Amino acid sequence: MGTRLMRFVVLVCAGLFSSACSVATYGGGVGREDVVESVVATPWQEIGRSVEGRPIRLRTIGSGARRVLWVGGIHGNEVEGVIATEELPAAFAGVRGLSDRVTLTIVEDVNPDGRAARSRGNAHGIDLNRNYPARNFAASPTNGDEPLCEPESRVLHDLIVRLDPHVVIVAHSWGRRADGPPCFINFDGPAEHLARRFGELSGYAVVPSENIHGTPGSLGSFVGIDRRTPILTLEYERGRSPDRCWSETREAILAVIGGDTGSGS
Ligand SMILES: [Zn+2]
Repeated sequence: MGTRLMRFVVLVCAGLFSSACSVATYGGGVGREDVVESVVATPWQEIGRSVEGRPIRLRTIGSGARRVLWVGGIHGNEVEGVIATEELPAAFAGVRGLSDRVTLTIVEDVNPDGRAARSRGNAHGIDLNRNYPARNFAASPTNGDEPLCEPESRVLHDLIVRLDPHVVIVAHSWGRRADGPPCFINFDGPAEHLARRFGELSGYAVVPSENIHGTPGSLGSFVGIDRRTPILTLEYERGRSPDRCWSETREAILAVIGGDTGSGS
């Protein structure tokens, strides 16, 4: 049994069906007979472009009724979640039954220009995590003159409105401060139960948004506070290796994706 979930193969279909050439299948074994379950995942698909024309991409895995959105990055100088984004599909496929219950949408990175330049903002110098049409939006040179004035913000906004996810998880990182935890899970909206479970499984501190300095126009404000959709903002420690970040939070991320809030709840 143990080996089944430890090994994954990716079978890239060769056009047997009209859409099969663009579908990868994660199997829980190495041979056709050993596959415990097959999980269909789309390849990366472009859903928009950045200011400088870089693609913003997503992929979907699983086919369940629970819709979960993972956003791998929004601040370009926060790359600690990159391995989590890469490893998530195989990890998801390795949890028996999860793909029947959950459809996981993965946005690779909302800010590819910032990622390329290692800058927090996009190529216009706008902080995309302050550019959402939340009630607390505050115009400024770095927040933007108006909500959704940046193409990257619009792409993610439109996806969220269309998808209407049950939960959103966004990867960030945070420069450690003397009086704060090195890494933590922040939440907005009706997400405290999920954040607490995340904290139990990862050891990360749980920090409500009220305890953080104001974040007008943030994704958390728009999604969590205004739309009342649970959203977790995962703050890895800045500079910690992405491999370590993933190994520390893998179980917690999968639990939140599956809606597992622990025993007795
Ligand atoms: Zn950030």
